[in-house]
Amino acid sequence: MILEVAGIETFYGETQALFGVSLQVGQGEVVALLGPNGAGKTTTLRSILGLTPARDGTIRFDGIDITRSATHEIARLGVGWVPDDRRIFPTLTVARNLSIARKRTRFRTWSLDEMFEIFSALEHLMERECEYLSGGEMQMVAISRALLGAPGLVLFDEPSQGLAPRVVQDVMATISHLKGAGISALVVEQNAATALQISDRAYVMDRGRIVHYGSAERLLSDDRLRVGLLGV
Ligand code: ATP
Repeated sequence: MILEVAGIETFYGETQALFGVSLQVGQGEVVALLGPNGAGKTTTLRSILGLTPARDGTIRFDGIDITRSATHEIARLGVGWVPDDRRIFPTLTVARNLSIARKRTRFRTWSLDEMFEIFSALEHLMERECEYLSGGEMQMVAISRALLGAPGLVLFDEPSQGLAPRVVQDVMATISHLKGAGISALVVEQNAATALQISDRAYVMDRGRIVHYGSAERLLSDDRLRVGLLGV
């Protein structure tokens, strides 16, 4: 397992947001983390990234206990992040945003040329300031930035949010492509059907707890189960 989250309890001040959340991501596996608004999906990612550290339980990445590690240390170990608000520096060019993201880890490094192969439009955007990019272009930059950090695991927070349907399909195809290159992914999505199409397994959260886990195929094919859990 590249990621092992075991019984984490996470709080915002005195308010408990996660109650004994456990989940695992295997090497080269794409795992969906689904559930309604406020279920705790983003908080789970924030705990893994050390942004809102878990008060209890453990998180191991690549065999290393990162439960109390600082965010920059976690990134250096090879955990990449594609946040929902993209967090690109708006006044910097695409090229600059990408160059400051470069890191070496024990995992495979990616070159800019490889980014241009995945995202053919990116090459022509390099000198553009990021505040002038469309949502789909921003997402390309956000994913490229994560890859240039040489991740073994990428955490995607709502990658389809705010994107046109065709762009959503491109982003999902990219996540599948990364899997082919051995990168594991944990994909938080409200758009369950989209995420399930590219996932091996899925966890469903509700009110701070994992309420279901199993194969993505089963959730896609078992309408009663899916509608019962996700309402769609
Ligand atoms: P969404 O898709 O709406 O982001 P989510 O499943 O990602 O939903 P979280 O954002 O993780 O859910 O929220 C889990 C719980 O934690 C919610 O009850 C939410 O109100 C609370 N929460 C989230 N962020 C904060 C914060 N910064 N301060 C206090 N409470 C928070």
